[in-house]
Amino acid sequence: MVLAELPPTFLLVIAGLVGLLFGSFANVVIYRLPRGENLAYPASRCPACGAPIRAYHNVPVLGWLWLRGRAGCCKAPISPRYPAVELLGGLWSLAVMRVLVLDLPGDTALWRAGLVFAAYFALGIGLLCAVFIDLDHMLLPDSLTLGGAVLGLCSAPLRGIGVGDSLLGALIGYVVVWLLFVELYRLLRGVPGMGLGDAKLLALAGAWFGWPGVLFALLAGSVLGTLTALAALVARGRLEEPESVVREREELERALDELEGEERQQLADELAQDPLFAKPGSGFGQARLAFGPFLAVATLLYPFVGTHLIENYLLEARLMTSGWENAPALTGEAVAFSAGGTGLLDALPLYIYRHLIGMR
Ligand SMILES: [Zn+2]
Repeated sequence: MVLAELPPTFLLVIAGLVGLLFGSFANVVIYRLPRGENLAYPASRCPACGAPIRAYHNVPVLGWLWLRGRAGCCKAPISPRYPAVELLGGLWSLAVMRVLVLDLPGDTALWRAGLVFAAYFALGIGLLCAVFIDLDHMLLPDSLTLGGAVLGLCSAPLRGIGVGDSLLGALIGYVVVWLLFVELYRLLRGVPGMGLGDAKLLALAGAWFGWPGVLFALLAGSVLGTLTALAALVARGRLEEPESVVREREELERALDELEGEERQQLADELAQDPLFAKPGSGFGQARLAFGPFLAVATLLYPFVGTHLIENYLLEARLMTSGWENAPALTGEAVAFSAGGTGLLDALPLYIYRHLIGMR
């Protein structure tokens, strides 16, 4: 059986529903994984009063709307983040089905299309969890980053990427962050600029999309992070740390106060190694912002916008170095690229060199 034999609308509806359900599961993972709790058991309980949640109140998005954002048992307010995460799961699933699966050649075997969908779907749900766990705790669990990297390696041949390119990308992603942003930055400024969790996340980007994916995740992630930090500064006047990080630091300080002599010194030395234990300075350059969420979002954007952008810029670079006499052949290629993906950013470099050539 091949892909073209199933109606696209049917596939999109299924994808949307599966995405909403797993978005609901992502909420469980975001809460339980960093607390070391079992993901599958026990069933969800109301965080305010502990009553079990009824199945029909647990229906993604609709349950929250039906209850108008309050718990069914005790009417405690429920954060709109829960339906938002469910919705994001649904949207990711729809986008993967529409762009990355339905645009495959119609004679693609159904099992193969299904595996491509499953791989991208798992990537999105995993990174969705990673984004919110990092926002809450400034922590990226290895099971998500390294697990995602392994999935990228295993699914590479399925997605038309060589296993060698995938391995090399993972290595480049990890080494770049570890060398430049952890070790060199520590040497220059005394504290690391990124964590090893970020290095593992970039290894994931490399395993999925090769070195261009690493480049794109770093650049697009920095742009997204800077814009967000500026927006937060304008809106609130300062960047705030997540509550749980502040609380954990207070608990450690209390534990330190209770110890004496050698034990105290030992714990103090250990804490001095932990960048999260130091209170952040108040200046803009010293503010602390989890970078993981931006790297993760940029990685998820790559299969939709990054591939076309990087292909176009590489072509532009070739045009500049290979001399204008080769331009007609190369711009023919550029037209073929641009037919594959559209959008303003995509068309811009093309527009520019067409006009440059026109002037000569
Ligand atoms: Zn309750």
